Amino acid sequence: MSDHVLPAISADPSAILAGVSRRSVLRAGMSLGAVAAFGGATFAGTRSAFAAVAQPTISSCAAWGAAAATSPISINNYRPTKILIHHTATANSTDLSQAHAFALSRSIQQYHFSRGWIDTGQHFTVSRGGFITEGRHRTLETLAGGSTFVLGAHCTGQNETSLGIENEGTYTSETPPAVQWNKLVDLCAFLCQSYAIPASELYGHRDFLSTSCPGNLFYAKLPELRNAVAAKLGSPPPPPTRTWPTLQSGASGFRVTTLQYLLRYRGSTITADGAFGAGTKSAVVSFQSANGLAGDGIVGPNTWEQLVVTVTQGAVNEAVRGVQTALTARGYNVSVDGNFGSGTKAAVVSFQNASGLTADGIVGPDTWAKLVI
Ligand SMILES: [Zn+2]
Repeated sequence: MSDHVLPAISADPSAILAGVSRRSVLRAGMSLGAVAAFGGATFAGTRSAFAAVAQPTISSCAAWGAAAATSPISINNYRPTKILIHHTATANSTDLSQAHAFALSRSIQQYHFSRGWIDTGQHFTVSRGGFITEGRHRTLETLAGGSTFVLGAHCTGQNETSLGIENEGTYTSETPPAVQWNKLVDLCAFLCQSYAIPASELYGHRDFLSTSCPGNLFYAKLPELRNAVAAKLGSPPPPPTRTWPTLQSGASGFRVTTLQYLLRYRGSTITADGAFGAGTKSAVVSFQSANGLAGDGIVGPNTWEQLVVTVTQGAVNEAVRGVQTALTARGYNVSVDGNFGSGTKAAVVSFQNASGLTADGIVGPDTWAKLVI
């Protein structure tokens, strides 16, 4: 189970503690700034001044019978700035009981022990029956304080800045049940309120690492999740986290060619000729219909968000041709051969540096968006 977490979790979270104290100071400052920017006068006061969202019931480690952590839990002495959504990649159980939720939590903890981790990796788990459990020990204790959080192990590179929520199930071809979804909204809203995290800062695991988690159909609902959380917080709906171009029939140019390569990556056999004709529209409609989107043939933010795929050095596929097409159009000297080699990586890093992105050479959604905007 949890196949998505295997390459994604730091095997030894303590290894990333170096330098935390200096960053703690910086992040504490940033968090205070975020409070002021996010909520203005009503949000910048004491915590009680914006206690509009009640804490949902969260069963503690003691309640579900967690084993003791094998090492002391590390605490980040600052607030998290974002929340990452995962799915457990376990079966879509029809057992909606609390007993099942508790058994799942114990099972995940044992699984994570078997990976050599000191405790459950994530901070929270939401069962398909809508039961929320504490993940790593001391998560609830730090949440109550609202100014620190437990160093989890749910996404390498993000553990120092994010909370991780595992949602029971596999959501590649179905969406989470309403009771689970509603509890997730409640939990996210409460976490955002407690830690002054804007509703825009809810992400999928795949936004940061090459993984299918939290599944295509759950990932597609993240804009809806952000909006629902914002509504609960009484804040305006967050703007889309990324800006994408809108492409439709009659469009032409490298953006269309890139789109066509992405459609080919997704199984279409259209020619990548840079002209948005009837064949491209048909391929777009097919993709949209297969992914729970309105099949209007117009490629806007929701379609782009689901169409792009994270690619890194070593990938050989049509999506890489899309990257190379866009890089070429932007003046980088790379071959459009579909082979993500060192030359392509160097161009990506250069482009990322020039675009204010994290220069990691990995083409994830943020880099895709900048490439095609
Ligand atoms: Zn995940």
